[in-house]
Amino acid sequence: MKDDRNIAENYLIHTYNRYPIVFDYGKGVYLYDDTGKRYLDFASGIGVFALGYGQQEYNQALKAQIDKIIHTSNYFYSAPLANAAKKLVKISNMKRVFFCNSGAEAIEGAIKIARKYGHVKKQLKESEIISLEHSFHGRSTGALALTGNITYQEDFFPLMQGVKFAKLNDIGSVKEKITDKTCAIILEPIQGEGGIYPAKREFLVELRKLCDERDILLIFDEIQCGMGRSGSMYVFQEYGILPDVLTTAKALGCGIPVGAFLVNERAEDILEAGDHGTTYGGNPLACVAVDKVLDLFEKLQITEHVKKLTPYLESRLNELVQNKETVIERRGKGFMQGLELQIPAKGVINKAIENGLIVLLAGTNVIRFLPPLIIEKHHIDEMFEILFEILE
Ligand SMILES: *Cc1c(COP(=O)(O)O)cnc(C)c1O
Repeated sequence: MKDDRNIAENYLIHTYNRYPIVFDYGKGVYLYDDTGKRYLDFASGIGVFALGYGQQEYNQALKAQIDKIIHTSNYFYSAPLANAAKKLVKISNMKRVFFCNSGAEAIEGAIKIARKYGHVKKQLKESEIISLEHSFHGRSTGALALTGNITYQEDFFPLMQGVKFAKLNDIGSVKEKITDKTCAIILEPIQGEGGIYPAKREFLVELRKLCDERDILLIFDEIQCGMGRSGSMYVFQEYGILPDVLTTAKALGCGIPVGAFLVNERAEDILEAGDHGTTYGGNPLACVAVDKVLDLFEKLQITEHVKKLTPYLESRLNELVQNKETVIERRGKGFMQGLELQIPAKGVINKAIENGLIVLLAGTNVIRFLPPLIIEKHHIDEMFEILFEILE
């Protein structure tokens, strides 16, 4: 209702420019607003709803857990916590996990590991972290300090000190920034908000080597690109390398707010009792979501499905590049794709949404596609038809 919009506008802090749409419910890969209008969702709540809306097994698991217990605090154990931890560690090839409530919080945990690694392993009083230009790591002040986008930062200075920015896919620029104080390098294996820029295999392999040589932690932020979106559970798994710290969130709970950071041997024992904590993190409801999501990924063979359908999605997006003058190029991997336009993408995205297709902005002139991982060919065709018409 228009009322809901007015009330929300009167009472919320205006941190978002929302579309004038009130969503009522979702089914599969479609959303329905309060007038009954249907939208094909190629954004999935910013890469969150990987399994689509109204997944019955997922919904049932959450409902059952609500009736059992929702929260216990981290003074105690629960079965969902144990199950979710075991499964997430296994599918990510990491050693241990800490559950939190969002992506930014996962980044904060990774920062603390990096700082403590510098302090106790490298005897540094003050350490430096290298991040990348055009990166996005979240809105809390630590994560913001790592985010390579001055417009997000400038109103909030001074941010956390000791951060340097290097260039993606330019190992020389990383080497230039390394000093004896460097404790960690953090990057998204596919940059999301910044404009869909995938890291090259050679770059990641060289970074791994460099970090080993210089005793630096390698942190992969797979909050957006992870959880099957690339066609593998995590992007790095395609390159035969492991990070020392991994952050994950967005699709991890498929709508229940949950994030996590995971560690490998080198970072396994850095955080000790008393070093870090959160009241909600790993609560039984969130962990049932994680547990069920990971079950369903396996059962529905999500990564195989993404791999199988990626060539089709890419070929249809390539058609737009070939046929439409405003579209410069396609970038991305799996179901994380971007179309770079010659013009700001905002107007095109507004039009797409008016025409019943939800897509996202990345950077200023990139249309970003993060569809649910269960889309079929005909959904891709439907997306194509709408965009083809709009881009006339
Ligand atoms: C979304 C995102 C974050 C922040 O996650 P929140 O849950 O919004 O705090 C961090 N890093 C990347 C790569 C993201 O896409």
